[in-house]
Amino acid sequence: MRFAILNGEIIERSEAKVDVEDRGYQFGDGVYEVIRVYNGKMFTATEHLNRFVKSSESIGITLPYTQEQLTKLLEELIVKNNLQVGTIYMQITRGISPRNHAFPTEKVMPSLVAYTKEVARPVENLKTGVKTILTEDIRWLRCDIKSLNLLGNLLAKQKAAVEGCFEAIQHRSEDVTEGSSSNIFIVKNGIVITHQSDNLILKGISKDVILQVCASNNIEVEERIFTLDELADADEVFLSSTTAEVMPIIEVDGKSVAAGFPGPVTRRLQELFEQEIEKQCGSLNDKILY
Ligand code: PMP
Repeated sequence: MRFAILNGEIIERSEAKVDVEDRGYQFGDGVYEVIRVYNGKMFTATEHLNRFVKSSESIGITLPYTQEQLTKLLEELIVKNNLQVGTIYMQITRGISPRNHAFPTEKVMPSLVAYTKEVARPVENLKTGVKTILTEDIRWLRCDIKSLNLLGNLLAKQKAAVEGCFEAIQHRSEDVTEGSSSNIFIVKNGIVITHQSDNLILKGISKDVILQVCASNNIEVEERIFTLDELADADEVFLSSTTAEVMPIIEVDGKSVAAGFPGPVTRRLQELFEQEIEKQCGSLNDKILY
């Protein structure tokens, strides 16, 4: 039997249903998080929960649970679902109220839902690298909020899927922003370059882990806007996300990235990322072996 969290309680997943007038269902009026689980333990849980609180507060939803309560609930869910390697999806919406764009004036209880999924590490892709396409970034100007409104991201990802590609790299005119569900990095002359964390991208938790391991291993980083020309001219390109970790990119819009296989800086960062996972969650039995 599978379990889910609905409004602070762990119940059978098939019983976890939301009302047709839930504002998340009607408007995407809510925020979400995806947390990685390795060996039955959450990776970077605090960082994800901090971002969850920040995203909710930025749209005026006050979480009716403390971070400690949420952590405990999520840990219980992992145990109940016997999850070893996978993800937790968690979302909160403004709650159930007669349909009206403006926020409800009466007090409404936000709706919280969480459930788990078994997801293996994408070891094969992590070894060989993945193909991507380019697409104009048509999203709104608050991409720093992890909003349930993902239509721009979905359209971008679908374009990639149709082309048989793993990810769509979005750009605003000449400036590269981020993937449809990932942050994008280039490497040039040993320097790791990625878009600064502002309103145009999501401040990825994996991105932050990468920046930290770069700092402690003397790998130079520039957090700044980079252009499509710099992307085309990069020595290495990779993406990062909770589920994809440090994923090498070997093709952009049909053109090979440098030599067409994962480069040395990307591979070093994969190794350092695995070490961070092992520090928090214990030994991995499916490491990326080149
Ligand atoms: N940008 C977007 C648009 C995303 O959806 C994601 C995935 N959550 C990321 C970046 C990467 O963030 P994280 O490393 O926290 O998964």
